[in-house]
Amino acid sequence: MYKKIYRIIKQYDNIVIARHIGVDPDAMASQIALKESIQLTFPNKKVYAIGNGSVKFNYLGKLDKLETLENALLIVLDTPDKRRVDAPDLSIYQDSIKIDHHPFVEKFCNLEYIEDTASSTCEIIMDLIEHTKLKVNQSIVEKLFMGLVSDSNRFLFSSCTAKTFQLVADYLKEFPLDLEKLYQNLYMRPMKEVRLQGYISENMTITDNGVGYIKINNDIINKFKVDSASAGNMINNFNFIEEMLVWTTITEDTKNNIVRVNIRSRGPEINFIAEKYNGGGHKYASGARVSTIEEAMALIDDLDQASENYIKNHLS
Ligand code: AMP
Repeated sequence: MYKKIYRIIKQYDNIVIARHIGVDPDAMASQIALKESIQLTFPNKKVYAIGNGSVKFNYLGKLDKLETLENALLIVLDTPDKRRVDAPDLSIYQDSIKIDHHPFVEKFCNLEYIEDTASSTCEIIMDLIEHTKLKVNQSIVEKLFMGLVSDSNRFLFSSCTAKTFQLVADYLKEFPLDLEKLYQNLYMRPMKEVRLQGYISENMTITDNGVGYIKINNDIINKFKVDSASAGNMINNFNFIEEMLVWTTITEDTKNNIVRVNIRSRGPEINFIAEKYNGGGHKYASGARVSTIEEAMALIDDLDQASENYIKNHLS
């Protein structure tokens, strides 16, 4: 499959690389690293990494404005469903490839490579580069490493396998990384976010079935002077808490008129429940976008039911 992907990339002079809305480090790092690798290998190709960015991830590089392109190849990374691709019109492309590590949702590209056991899309791009003539340099390796580290929560999730560690070891042997510098890029945060984390810890409600949830409305966002993505971005900081099997943040986003729910689990599978509420994701890490706090609470009720079943079937 990697050879086939390489052959298609080789055929096209114009290539657009897209990924999901609500950019995160794995999506953006895989996108920019693949762009840089294609340009390093084929200096005459025009390659665009597109989508809405976030100042938070400026250290990963710059995104491009898409010019009208004829006879272009579209590569979609890290996105299982068409509605979440952050690109204006998917129908204008001559050919398309999807590369993803999410569980399969739907086919919308001509060629799809899905490895849902991979830790991250960056891991798959590392593997692709290792198995083809795509070239790599220090900057590309740094990006791929940061995306992998971010999506695996610093190698914490069971999606990290011998293959993950082997790939990282292979790359680091050739390109030693300044880990402390890279981790500063990934994990440095302002005090106001730490204070919000304190607020979440103080005010998290936990149901009898071990579902933790916190409602962050616009007043709280303004009080802490953070943006509406901040609470959701710290969901992984609430790992390993005895009383919670499932934990969620429910955040009002008045600018986009939605309520964002971020969900994590160390027991029940949650992606099917998220899908019911205009969301999706991985078995134990999902998200959803709903219209009202009431709808978010209905999602919490479903999670609570799933958690009750999980306790009955697995823990008692
Ligand atoms: P997050 O909580 O934003 O880190 O997202 C966890 C996982 O859920 C990622 O794989 C996301 O791509 C996925 N995800 C988050 N929000 C949504 C959504 N609204 N629809 C589908 N998948 C989502």
